[in-house]
Amino acid sequence: MLYSELASTYDRLESTSSRLEMTSILAEFYRNLEPSELRQVVYLTQGKLNPDYVTEKMGMADKMILKAVIDASRLQDRYVNDLWMKEGDLGSVAERVASERVQTNLFSQPLTLQRVVENLRGIESAEGRNSQTKKIRLLTSLLHDASPLEARYLCRTVTGRMRVGAASMTILDALASAFGVKEDREDVERAFNVSSDIGFVAERLAKDGIEGVHGIEVQVGRPVRSMLAERLPSMEEILEKLGGGCALEYKYDGIRVQAHIDNDKVTLYSRRLEDLTANFPDVVESLREAFSGQEAILEGECVPVDLKTGKLLPFQEVAHRRRKFGMEEAVKEYPVRLFLFDCLKIDSEDLTLRPFLERRKAMESKIKVTDSLMFSHMQVVDELSQAELFFENALAAGCEGIMAKSIAEGSIYRTGNRGFLWIKYKKDYRGDLNDSFDLVVVGAYTGKGKRKGVYGALLMAIYDTEAGVFQTLCKLGSGFDDAFLAELPGMLEGHQSPSPPSHLRTRMEADHWFEPAVVLEVMGAEISLSPTHTAAEGLLPEGSGLALRFPRFTGKVRDDKTAEQATTANELISMYRSQATMVDEGSSAKF
Ligand code: ATP
Repeated sequence: MLYSELASTYDRLESTSSRLEMTSILAEFYRNLEPSELRQVVYLTQGKLNPDYVTEKMGMADKMILKAVIDASRLQDRYVNDLWMKEGDLGSVAERVASERVQTNLFSQPLTLQRVVENLRGIESAEGRNSQTKKIRLLTSLLHDASPLEARYLCRTVTGRMRVGAASMTILDALASAFGVKEDREDVERAFNVSSDIGFVAERLAKDGIEGVHGIEVQVGRPVRSMLAERLPSMEEILEKLGGGCALEYKYDGIRVQAHIDNDKVTLYSRRLEDLTANFPDVVESLREAFSGQEAILEGECVPVDLKTGKLLPFQEVAHRRRKFGMEEAVKEYPVRLFLFDCLKIDSEDLTLRPFLERRKAMESKIKVTDSLMFSHMQVVDELSQAELFFENALAAGCEGIMAKSIAEGSIYRTGNRGFLWIKYKKDYRGDLNDSFDLVVVGAYTGKGKRKGVYGALLMAIYDTEAGVFQTLCKLGSGFDDAFLAELPGMLEGHQSPSPPSHLRTRMEADHWFEPAVVLEVMGAEISLSPTHTAAEGLLPEGSGLALRFPRFTGKVRDDKTAEQATTANELISMYRSQATMVDEGSSAKF
């Protein structure tokens, strides 16, 4: 297959913002590909060569890409550098340069998908002393033979910022439509949630149809997309929703880990599917000692703890364990305890479709509790007074609230989904506004006065999972200390965008734009209807969005979340509705 076919598909995707149109463009393209080609194309559409959980990156800094663009064009360095300063997007620079090349390249060969993938893999795997030169050479060789449009997307691919706006859910829609299994769309999504590998699901579907997809099961070594909780504003509503009785657990405030055990080999994954094994060697050791079977996938929260008193410590302490160097000291200085709360697989048995209490029992039968590894504190309740007491005890123990879990027959582990089988209830819910928000930085404003030289405020967004777009919710300027303001540019480095990202819906202006990547936790006073912000706009009367009033950064950078795991439009709407009923008890919701 020629790479030009993929490049022109990207170009068509980039020119539309309608999810439906994107789906049909992709479906039409996917339908005609060989299964193995399709797998590569699906990764490439997301600016990757591998599934989400493989951390190898192509690792080319902007300057290296620019060097390849210059080498391939034989244009003056100065001219190309100036273009970059003006355009800001390396893809557009490469496209312009390719169209202005001094002479047509002799001996140029049309680019095939296979050659592109081979060179990109070479870039990914280059190591050692001459790795930079090697990476530049491999990209130059592709750019030498690329048309202007191909050059645009080759450069964007190596930066990982495609700007075509095709989110995983859109790709799944397209796959279901391309292979005639629209009615089984849910099963295709489950296979993705279970394997966290959209390319693998695509290949299976193209090769073996829906039967192949049904054969995809949880597997040790392949992280599973986590089950997530809904929220409700009162304990009465929680009990009612869960049929009058449920299991309550302490909600610990730490880092969620998914442990994959294969005999002596233990791998820990974060919520964003990163490998955390090197950050928690003590947890790895505890799991090795505690587990008595061969294989398992377990989930728990890693919480900082004072080993002398057994007291749980604030979340920030565990953030020190996410460093790259000095791990031995960090293990001693910031000890943690793992509270296990679920189990997806034990030995050959996939437990994800079994009811919650059965999973818990299976886990308890294979784990020996120690000082650094315990089960989450749990109680089955069927009365409000019991539930309220449990909640008070959770707060007294230093937890942020409780998790209420369904114990019904259908209380399966719903991979990758936020639903009412788990409901969270935190102490913040009793204040003015229920819960914090996890918002994505999409823009920034140049600081003035006391904030001269740093960003003055940030433009923050939520994610609309249905539409596959980010929408702005507020401008955030409070809660930042000097150290954080100084760190911000480094945190946002590599995510700059010359214009609003293609999958951001905004009516706001900003001095700087960013591809959605960095997630911050924010509290606010009230959610209100807004003519300027676009949050949840598809779910509200035409022309309105929601805005967060008096937003304040809590100090927590949610680096355990990807941009797509930020607060969603559906969550925001339900928070807005529950706030409306709290403010105006008895009256109907605001819309
Ligand atoms: P939050 O910011 O409220 O932790 P979240 O978006 O990270 O929310 P949710 O699914 O909404 O995730 O809330 C559940 C989270 O609470 C889990 O992701 C997990 O990290 C944490 N947690 C702590 N204790 C438990 C428990 N006993 N059972 C399940 N999850 C728990």
